[in-house]
Amino acid sequence: MKKIIIIGAGIAGMSVGIYARKNGYDVTIYEMHSLPGGMCTAWKRKGFTFEGCLHFMGVGGTSPFQDVYRIWKELGVLPGTKMIYHEVINTHKDTSGRTLNFYTDIHRLEKELRSLSSADKKEIKTLCKAAQRCSWFIRSSRKNPLLFLLKAVNILRGIMILKKYGEFNVGEYAVRFQDPLIRDALTNFFVYPDIPCVQIFFFLAMFHLKSIGYPEGSSLSFAKKIEGIFCELNGKIEYKKKVKRINVTDGRVTGIELDDGTVKTADIIISACDGHSTLFDMLGDRFTTPAIRERYATQPLYQSFIQVSLGVNRDMTGISHAVKVEVETPFEIAGELQKFLWYQHYAFDPTLSPKGKTAITILYPSQLNWWEKIGYRNEKYNEEKKKILDSTISQLEQVLPGISGQIEISDVATPLTTVRYTNNWKASLGFMLTKKIIKELMMNPQYTLPGIDNFYMIGQWVKGMSLIMAAESGKDVVKKICETDHIKFK
Ligand SMILES: Cc1cc2nc3c(=O)[nH]c(=O)nc-3n(C[C@H](O)[C@H](O)[C@H](O)COP(=O)(O)OP(=O)(O)OC[C@H]3O[C@@H](n4cnc5c(N)ncnc54)[C@H](O)[C@@H]3O)c2cc1C
Repeated sequence: MKKIIIIGAGIAGMSVGIYARKNGYDVTIYEMHSLPGGMCTAWKRKGFTFEGCLHFMGVGGTSPFQDVYRIWKELGVLPGTKMIYHEVINTHKDTSGRTLNFYTDIHRLEKELRSLSSADKKEIKTLCKAAQRCSWFIRSSRKNPLLFLLKAVNILRGIMILKKYGEFNVGEYAVRFQDPLIRDALTNFFVYPDIPCVQIFFFLAMFHLKSIGYPEGSSLSFAKKIEGIFCELNGKIEYKKKVKRINVTDGRVTGIELDDGTVKTADIIISACDGHSTLFDMLGDRFTTPAIRERYATQPLYQSFIQVSLGVNRDMTGISHAVKVEVETPFEIAGELQKFLWYQHYAFDPTLSPKGKTAITILYPSQLNWWEKIGYRNEKYNEEKKKILDSTISQLEQVLPGISGQIEISDVATPLTTVRYTNNWKASLGFMLTKKIIKELMMNPQYTLPGIDNFYMIGQWVKGMSLIMAAESGKDVVKKICETDHIKFK
């Protein structure tokens, strides 16, 4: 039996591990942390569970209506996982108190947008139609000839819309709307206005198909479920083992070297962790192609976050779970002025807090290099965290009066925390899915490197950010390995 070593027990690492075990390979994952999941995580404090990943999106591909659903199905993670589906993706409030709910149902969203602005009737119609058309790109035809035909027709019509809007990023697209609330809400929909606007259409499409859900129990329990499946298949995970080097002899991988100097041998190595450290540290920059080097040097990354988590003695059931409030006076967080207070609460999942209480998280985009100048866990670092907590509570008090007296536990995680627990370059979620990156990564991921045999790279740095992409990259690579070994892929 061929021996595979996987670096990293994130969603990509465990998914590739499951497919590899199902195809008869001997698999061991080496993970530097003591837990599975990587970025797909949560943490517990005083009876509250603080979500660390799925804040306002969710796990994509959870509906059988979508093609990629089969990945979760094959991994076996959906049975026994209760998926929670929201009616509202996100609520946007401006300084005058006007509110826009991004309903997951496109028809309801259209009504909401129309009630806010009759002047934007035409654009609203186009937005909702675009989302509906895009839903056909991702929809499974489930071997039904009628559905297949419908899909083909709608894709053809959808291509026209994608062509028309393909050049615009979210910020440029939003200015087509006259209503300032709609404009602002769209611009800030993803936090990053530079993302292609067609991504909004696809996200709305996925929500409309009920294909983005929240796994009850948090991201970490979702990750633990996948870990359980891998272990049941006799896959092995070694925790607290950081990989320092990937050994290559005569253009072929031979094994890995851990931080403590231990060497482990294998026939195949799959790196399912940070792309930058894989290429430039573990492989010593010997196999980086000019195109990859250029990508790491020039392409924008998803910004990292500060996460403030609060356990409050308040039942927030029935209140929108993800709210972006434009504040009257921008406030400073870690050297950056914040125009919005962006909070999420998890009252919709009763397993995440004691009865009648709620876990709240607040996110702020923040640069790792700002934190690197401060240093980790020193007096200044603690002072900054305290300042962030105090500002957050005072902002939150203005939108949820009385909340400051109900806080039972608080926690502040910074981009340095993310690096410590996941080792991701610049604490990022990978390359921002710009038009160029969508073409290069999502549509044509490069899992191998020239000059090195039996080595593969997967995960968010190779296929693009998201849990489903991470999982799918695992499947793609086992298919490739089986092809090379002349094994029929299962
Ligand atoms: C705030 C936030 C919100 C998000 N929201 C969503 C969302 O709503 N929906 C969605 O689908 N995705 C979301 N994501 C993105 C998603 O979490 C990631 O894209 C995905 O989890 C990446 O998985 P991965 O396995 O590729 O990488 P990772 O999760 O980074 O896993 C890599 C693993 O490798 C380990 N590792 C690293 N270096 C080494 C080493 N040298 N030796 C051994 N082990 C090592 C790490 O500890 C980690 O466990 C979000 C992410 C964040 C941070």
